[in-house]
Amino acid sequence: MKNIIFLFLTFLSIHVYAQRSCGTDEYMKQKLQDPEFKAKYEARQALFKQEFKKNAHSANSKKVTIKIPVAIHFPNGNPSDRTCLEALSRRQMDVLNADFRSTNTDISKWSAARTHYPGINAGSMDIQFELATSNHPPGMGLTDGNPSVTVGYNFGNGSDTDANWAGYVNIVVKDIDGLGVAPLGGSPANGDATEIDHKAFGTDSGCGAIAPQAPYHLGRTVTHEIGHFLNLFHTWGDAGSCTEDDNVNDTPNIDNPTYGCATPGSVVMCNNKSLTMNYMDYPDDTCAYMFTAGQAARSLAYLNTIISEFKSGVLSNNHFESENSFAILSNPVENELRLRTANNILAKDATLQIFDLRGASVLKTALDGNLYEQNINVSTLHGGLYIIRVTSGSHKLHRKIIIR
Ligand SMILES: [Zn+2]
Repeated sequence: MKNIIFLFLTFLSIHVYAQRSCGTDEYMKQKLQDPEFKAKYEARQALFKQEFKKNAHSANSKKVTIKIPVAIHFPNGNPSDRTCLEALSRRQMDVLNADFRSTNTDISKWSAARTHYPGINAGSMDIQFELATSNHPPGMGLTDGNPSVTVGYNFGNGSDTDANWAGYVNIVVKDIDGLGVAPLGGSPANGDATEIDHKAFGTDSGCGAIAPQAPYHLGRTVTHEIGHFLNLFHTWGDAGSCTEDDNVNDTPNIDNPTYGCATPGSVVMCNNKSLTMNYMDYPDDTCAYMFTAGQAARSLAYLNTIISEFKSGVLSNNHFESENSFAILSNPVENELRLRTANNILAKDATLQIFDLRGASVLKTALDGNLYEQNINVSTLHGGLYIIRVTSGSHKLHRKIIIR
């Protein structure tokens, strides 16, 4: 038996870099056998379902950029490679942001490919992954201004969570079986790890043993695994049958992954053309270039579910100044003004003030900087046009609102 297992492992390791592989399905199968994990997972999924329904209603309302603090860990990295590993991490972050925002240069391939997939649109999310730069957990040797990159720190003592790093999206880069593994619907509060193989992280030249290798040298393994973290299933729905769905309404129903670099429209399963260039399939990095609009909506709803779990005050460029720092949901306003701010962006003394058209202040209230969305009662105001001012630190932003 031992020999058979050994042969099987050898077979696996030979194939690890020949074709994409992801450990998430197996990982979740095992974790869900733990009743405590299962209960937490199901509670989060229930919250997600509520949020997803809500989100569908406000799909066209102006959104604000969601900022996601990220920490990257190289438990086996050589401290003398720190500068190189930080640069490698930054290149990976650039890929992650471009892919989720659909600003990756190779999205241009979609305009030709989409003729095979009527009704499917590429998805983009107004989100930004950022390495944290301040208020690092103590004992990591990181000071304010350093990026949240640990080198030689044994994340979670080798386990899949680390309470020291609760509040971040943690990416742990090490030698693993397969290319990556992530919790499906991960928890920042839990300090969950998304693990990436040391040969599938970042782009361009690496740092010693930590070096991206073709065909997984463009950082798309991280895009795929963070997709899982944000509650996306594989496009084939994991069960290998045409009846099992990925719970995304615009991805064609298929029953198996496609590896390598398929010609768009050439792979047919369950009577559908497989979306082989999707990040949640198994393409090589050079042939992976899109999420669908349905996947984007699903991940965004999941992000809304976990947004309060992100640690505040850790991102350096979180200034309340750009036009998309806040949004008024549902304008005209009836009784309650719903204000959405980019997460963790408001100063402690932030206020909201409402002026009538003569410039007289008619309402002033403190805002809670920890909230992503808050409701302000305006039922005492007469119907009409008003100007609202949100002040945070030295920054002031204005919007017109109509009160009914
Ligand atoms: Zn996967």
